[in-house]
Order: sequence, then structure tokens, then C-alpha cells
Amino acid sequence: MQTFQHPRQMREHLDALRHQGHTIALVPTMGALHEGHLQLVDEAARHGDTVLVSIFVNPTQFGPNEDFSRYPRDLESDRAKLQQRGAHLIFAPTPELMYPEGAATRVCVQHLTAHLCGPLRPGHFDGVATVVTQLFHIAGPCTAIFGQKDFQQLAVIRRLVRDLHMPVHIVAHPTVRDSDGLALSSRNAYLSTDERQRALCIPAALQQVHDAFHSGIRTPARLTQCATSHIAPRVDAVDYISLVCPDTLAPLRDDIPQHHSALLAVAVRIGTTRLIDNILLSTAPSPVFPRSAQGTKPPRPTSPC
Ligand code: AMP
Repeated sequence: MQTFQHPRQMREHLDALRHQGHTIALVPTMGALHEGHLQLVDEAARHGDTVLVSIFVNPTQFGPNEDFSRYPRDLESDRAKLQQRGAHLIFAPTPELMYPEGAATRVCVQHLTAHLCGPLRPGHFDGVATVVTQLFHIAGPCTAIFGQKDFQQLAVIRRLVRDLHMPVHIVAHPTVRDSDGLALSSRNAYLSTDERQRALCIPAALQQVHDAFHSGIRTPARLTQCATSHIAPRVDAVDYISLVCPDTLAPLRDDIPQHHSALLAVAVRIGTTRLIDNILLSTAPSPVFPRSAQGTKPPRPTSPC
């Protein structure tokens, strides 16, 4: 498994592979890899001959008061995990190589970014869209894999690819959770034991909203209130708990018609850590806690919606 740092050398290596007829499947990450990332790597192996993982803590997607400098970085440990999982190549550039002196270009996806995290993290999705565009140009993947945990990011990238006619197939992978339901995240490493325990209110609330939706409750205010009443008392701040249209990410106000879906998206702060999670409510039930894992789930909230 080779690691490349320089964009030009990475591109030349991949050009040669493509010349031999290889297809490239790319998994973009910021490192501090966990099982969620590694399942994306497994997924990538189903879509391309060569699995390339990029590891880059992208400065342009962090705001001035965000955690860029303290974001966990451990390339050696990431390399060992990827080797074990059978990835073929790593691209781990430096900020200076990705954004050389005088870099002045940003890619901006409008409308989808006006909702959820967009207004709270100004410039974040421009940073994401810019770095993903760079990675696609450097790597020339046929497929790129993204996690549904970052639902808005996935939506922004799908739109970017569609609008700019990029020849990349985007594959979404379901959110990977710990056995107690907490969505895996590199930022979970910031949580103290007490904070992590409190964070379990998020998957429990998502499950409760899922159950309410499948019992026939279709009123956005009721579903949102169901999650809020469970989460708000247990976290330090709620950035948003919103029921939105999965296509536009605009808030839903009217009752959800039969056979339509909705996304409940959550962003909260616990201590100094910001956590996001979501659940897609659609005709097919997709619980946070599958039946096989029910023995390990945290207690559900006692008050029904
Ligand atoms: P990050 O390193 O946090 O930027 O994430 C890199 C990729 O992994 C993104 O596509 C994320 O959506 C995805 N990812 C992160 N955590 C999870 C998870 N728990 N389940 C599925 N995908 C994830």
C-alpha cells in the first residue's frame, strides 16, 4: 500500500493505472479512521479495482473558531488500519500542497447550503465542495463513497457532481453506529465518559421519532418536538433539530403525505464537542437499533411522542 503526498505524483500514478484499465474508487476522509470509514473502504472495493483513501484535514472547511488545530491526526495508525482492510493507495497531502500560495478559487453549491449546518458554519460547504473537486481532479475516480451520517455533505456533493457534469458515480453508505447506537465519529474522541453517556440521547431520540413516524404520526412539529424533548435537556446546546425535505433540505411545515419521506437532522453541542446525526424517515422502516442489536441499546425514552 503506497502513500502519496504530492498531487502531481498521485495523479501520474493513477493515470498509469487507468491506462492499464484499472478503475479507481475513492474514499475521501480527514483521517482518525474508525469502523465507519473502514466500511466505506469495504464499499469502495465493490466499485473499483483500486481503492484510494485520501486523508486530509482540510483547513478551508473549518471556521476560525472551530477545531482545525485540535482535530485528531494519526497517519501511522490510519495507515495500519487501511493496510489491514485491503486499501491499495493513500493520498495524504499537506495544506500547502493543496492550497499553494495565492490559491484563490472556491467552489460554491447554493440553496442546499442555506439550511441545517450551512448558516451555522459559514464557508464550510464551500471548503468541502472545493476540496472534493480538487480530489476528483487529482484522482479521476469512477466512484466515490460518502457516508449518510453527513447527509447534507452528501447532498451537496451529489449536486456538485450533477451541476458540473463530473464523471464520478457517488455512492452513499449508511451510518455506522457503535453497539449502543452512537454514530461513529472522529470527534467522539473529544467526549468524556459522562458526555458520551449523554450523547446517547441522540440515537434514542432518532429511534423514537422513527417509531412515531411508522405509527402514523406525520406532523412535522410533533415529530420535531418528540426529538427535542428528549435531546434538549441532556445536551449543552442545540444547534438545530429539524425535519426537512431530503431532496432540498428545506424545513417541512405541512403533514408528510403518504409515501413521501423526510429527514430528521440533529446538530448539538455536548461540552466543547459538536455532534451531528440524522434519520431518514421513509416508507421502508430503517431503525437506528436493528432488532438483532436490541439487547445492547440504551433505554428508550419512556414518554411516547
Ligand atoms: P470525515 O473523516 O469525518 O470527514 O468522514 C469521511 C467520510 O466518512 C465521510 O463521507 C463521512 O460521511 C463518512 N463517515 C464518517 N463517520 C461515519 C459513520 N459513522 N458512518 C458512515 N460514514 C461515516
